[in-house]
Amino acid sequence: MQFISTRNQCSSFCLSDAIQTGLSPDGGLFIPESFPTIHRDTLYDVNDFIMFAYRILQPFFQGDRLEPHLMQICQSTFTFPVPLISLSEESHVLELFHGPTASFKDFGARFLANCMQRMTKTPKTILVATSGDTGSAVGCAFYRRPHYKVVILYPDGKISKRQEQQMTCWDSNIFSFAVKGSFDDCQRMVKAAFAKSAYQSKLSSANSINIGRLLPQMTYFAYQAVQYYKQYQREPTFIIPSGNLGHATAAYWARTIGMPIGKIILSTNANRVLPDYLETRVYRPRESIITIANAMDVGQPSNFERLQALYPSFDELSQNITAIAVDDAKIKNTIAEVYKRHQYICCPHTATAFYAQQYLCEKNSILVATASPAKFETCIEPILNCSIPVTNALKCLLERPMLKRQMDASLDQLGRWL
Ligand SMILES: *Cc1c(COP(=O)(O)O)cnc(C)c1O
Repeated sequence: MQFISTRNQCSSFCLSDAIQTGLSPDGGLFIPESFPTIHRDTLYDVNDFIMFAYRILQPFFQGDRLEPHLMQICQSTFTFPVPLISLSEESHVLELFHGPTASFKDFGARFLANCMQRMTKTPKTILVATSGDTGSAVGCAFYRRPHYKVVILYPDGKISKRQEQQMTCWDSNIFSFAVKGSFDDCQRMVKAAFAKSAYQSKLSSANSINIGRLLPQMTYFAYQAVQYYKQYQREPTFIIPSGNLGHATAAYWARTIGMPIGKIILSTNANRVLPDYLETRVYRPRESIITIANAMDVGQPSNFERLQALYPSFDELSQNITAIAVDDAKIKNTIAEVYKRHQYICCPHTATAFYAQQYLCEKNSILVATASPAKFETCIEPILNCSIPVTNALKCLLERPMLKRQMDASLDQLGRWL
């Protein structure tokens, strides 16, 4: 299988090179040259998640130098449960936050680290800007891996206390910095570093546009869709809290290869670029707005290009994508309502999916829970008036000593650490 850019279909890359390069040289994103078809009935008996993930991913690895390692990569990535919680006959919650840093980012970050570890023998520095969950997932995934150093930039004072603890609890090869500025400043510093030739050859990227993070996210959509179809003889609707649209892209790809997925609905926070586009036909990326669902504070979703590559005309796109924006007030109300109705505590991101389900009267749907509520206790506890228990995995991280380093939003200061 070869991978091409969303912008220039002429040159193609093998998977390893696409993972190592991150972004295509023409500035586009890597997409599969064509999609394989996997017949769902060949998967009905594959109940083991690792085996299932291997079957979904194998066609994308075909012919690549990583192919012989794929089984091992799956085995060392998918080491935690992916439960589907049924709240009622109509709503099921797919909990993707049982990994070590308690968000779905663990799937992509760990898979990427396991791929990269098998590719290089020269020292590399992974540089990431993060608005919340990516930094901790990448730090954890690369912790103590030979040849790799990770430098994480996050905006000082703009992430939750527990998110910060998860980012700053590492030693050894992981270095995190609270940048005096916004998430956009962090991202600008990363872009500036990648643009400077002195750093280029040393740097690697682990951000969400990397195809090595996207592919593993197809696995649980596919797995749960097949399980659901077997049980109910119906294709489930997935409702996905979305920001950069990486998660959503993986779900559309899972459907494209033949998995029994019905509708796909995307819920955003007040950063409503996609819902506005579907309503007005005018695509207007903008500065991001800060919300309580901070991991979705994205004003220019990078993976939009991949969705456009899949559905090139507006009509196709709007027939396939439904998107609903949910502001902070509605998120808070929803957290309270969901608790009242189901005694279920959801994080602010996941609440956007619950709101969308209510608003659209969606039956027969799987809501995707993207992070553990335990990471967002300062937001949720005042709403519910109760304390949120810490999960075991989170406890392990929170008990580690924290080392907070600060940095001005300048490339000079960053350069010393690269
Ligand atoms: C990253 C993240 C999202 C958004 O995922 P995208 O792939 O960027 O759309 C949603 N919820 C949580 C908790 C996240 O960490």
